[in-house]
Amino acid sequence: MDLASYADLVIELVNTQDPVQDSLRDLDSLQTLLEIRPHLSGRLTRRDLDAMRDLRGELRMIFTSAVSGRHEDAIERLNSLLIQHPIHPQLSGHDGQDWHMHLTEGGSVPDRYAAGASMGLAVYVSTHGIERLGICQAPLCAKVYFDTTANRSRRHCSDLCASRADVAAYRARRRENAEAEIGGRDCGR
Ligand SMILES: [Zn+2]
Ligand SMILES: [Zn+2]
Repeated sequence: MDLASYADLVIELVNTQDPVQDSLRDLDSLQTLLEIRPHLSGRLTRRDLDAMRDLRGELRMIFTSAVSGRHEDAIERLNSLLIQHPIHPQLSGHDGQDWHMHLTEGGSVPDRYAAGASMGLAVYVSTHGIERLGICQAPLCAKVYFDTTANRSRRHCSDLCASRADVAAYRARRRENAEAEIGGRDCGR
């Protein structure tokens, strides 16, 4: 995988949980998460699942701190993940590809995931800025994303959430207008 795509590990893991559901509950769901990452597969135990859930919490805290303007705190958390989970770089030319870097060629599955995710996030933050980290503002979502818009205007994880938020805002406005009209009639009596 190319270096930039290591940051996707962060989004994929953190977004296995939202206020409504948790899709990282058992070893099967962990297997599913790792399926698209053959470099990160291996035998998994209950402890690996716990480690991945802990990592998910740590990564989310980085987003929470970043979004609420506590940038130093976010960086401190990320730096401590980088120290706890060192990368193990190797050149690879699998599947007939050009020689390219793999960052996670050693350690347990959660260690490798943590090393790749933390390095990916560190590269992302140092290239694009910590202000690019976002948490979806739609009701009952809280998924995380990287804001790639030119003016840093993204507020939602997906188009679906953006349109759900628009509909909710429209309904709220209509309700207010309707209440204002009823209120107006009452006054006229
Ligand atoms: Zn590769
Ligand atoms: Zn969302």
